[in-house]
Amino acid sequence: MIQGKKLITVLGATGSIGVSTLDVVARHPDRYAVFALTAHRQVDKLFTQCLAHHPAYAVVASADDAARLQAMLERAGCCTEVLSGSQALVDVASAPEVDMVMAAIVGAAGLPPALAAARSGKRILLANKEALVMSGALFMQEVVAGGASLLPIDSEHNAIFQGLPAGFERGLGGSGVTRILLTASGGPFLNKPIDELAAVTPEMACAHPNWVMGRKISVDSATMMNKGLEVIEAYWLFGAPAEQIEVVIHPQSVIHSLVAYADGSVLAQLGNPDMRTPIAHAMAYPERIDSGVKPLDLFEIGRLDFQRPDFERFPCLGHAYRVLREGGIAPAVLNAANEVAVASFLDGRLGFDRISDIISATLDAIERREADSLDVVLDADRRARECASGFVERASR
Ligand code: NDP
Ligand code: MG
Repeated sequence: MIQGKKLITVLGATGSIGVSTLDVVARHPDRYAVFALTAHRQVDKLFTQCLAHHPAYAVVASADDAARLQAMLERAGCCTEVLSGSQALVDVASAPEVDMVMAAIVGAAGLPPALAAARSGKRILLANKEALVMSGALFMQEVVAGGASLLPIDSEHNAIFQGLPAGFERGLGGSGVTRILLTASGGPFLNKPIDELAAVTPEMACAHPNWVMGRKISVDSATMMNKGLEVIEAYWLFGAPAEQIEVVIHPQSVIHSLVAYADGSVLAQLGNPDMRTPIAHAMAYPERIDSGVKPLDLFEIGRLDFQRPDFERFPCLGHAYRVLREGGIAPAVLNAANEVAVASFLDGRLGFDRISDIISATLDAIERREADSLDVVLDADRRARECASGFVERASR
């Protein structure tokens, strides 16, 4: 903390969540200052962000990019120090000066720095749901052992967090909560004839009706694997068993999720679909600050619709419930196979309708075991990636 300001590291600063986070930071210069910003390859975007926020450190993937960014910053008179590689991500997530860490790297690459933030007792603003899906038990243990606090950024989980009773501890027993209702927009193909899904292009899949997001999560939303990952995320964050987590399709994305209580009350959190709301909530919690989000106008919205998910149209949702019930390394295998299948679809090597086949074939092929250490989880991730890549190659022949 410097001069009463909270210091934040933004992992994945150049992504959709990273940019929204920096927008909220910029609205409150009296409350927040940036310790570190990280990107993978978007050096020019990170350069612009460094000029605006003057972090002590910036991190990129390669040493060559780091040297180029360092030279650009020096020429511009900015004294940010540029680091590179995966250990640097861990270092800026766990540095003693840091108060909070926005975990917004996409996919499994975000796990080590998010775990480092947990171990070093930070306030973790968790957008990177894949980290929790892969290693939920270990992650939650590290949060407790490190004295960290974990605040959900995913809009649904942030909504649930807001709807839970004060002082809620993980596990629904004794809380009066009977169900968690996770809302889902259904994505761009909710009503598309199933036989047309084979011809879907990456551009069509990434054109989400309500949210502007990175490409991987946009495809996950189109297959509803995103909601499947979120069911697993809810299980770990709130200790809710699979049977008490229900997915409700709500195409307008105005209700971000609901919590049902034993007395019949159902608490919902509503708002315009803009990630700056959960980001500002988690950054300032328990206070409330301006996020820049347009106020909700119910008259403009007019109506709210709901429907049950169709597990035939969205088989990925069924795969996620299956691995949650199995436990062990199964969720890490599902996550890795999904990352490979989605990247292959985005590269034009796999049909949209084959994503779920690659995941189920990989789940059938990998032998199960307990996820009792990070090494075991990372080994499952590696084997599942190899296996899924083989299935993609065969499918694209
Ligand atoms: P984006 O693809 O927009 O951004 C991803 C960020 O991660 C970028 O900064 C990217 O850097 C960086 N990155 C990518 N690969 C690596 C890697 N191997 N090592 C280090 N950094 C890497 O994703 P989003 O912002 O949409 O999503 C981020 C996370 O938040 C995901 O886990 C997603 O599921 C979750 N989330 C996102 C929501 C949204 O509305 N966008 C909503 C809820 C959750 P570079 O730009 O240089 O490539
Ligand atoms: Mg979400």
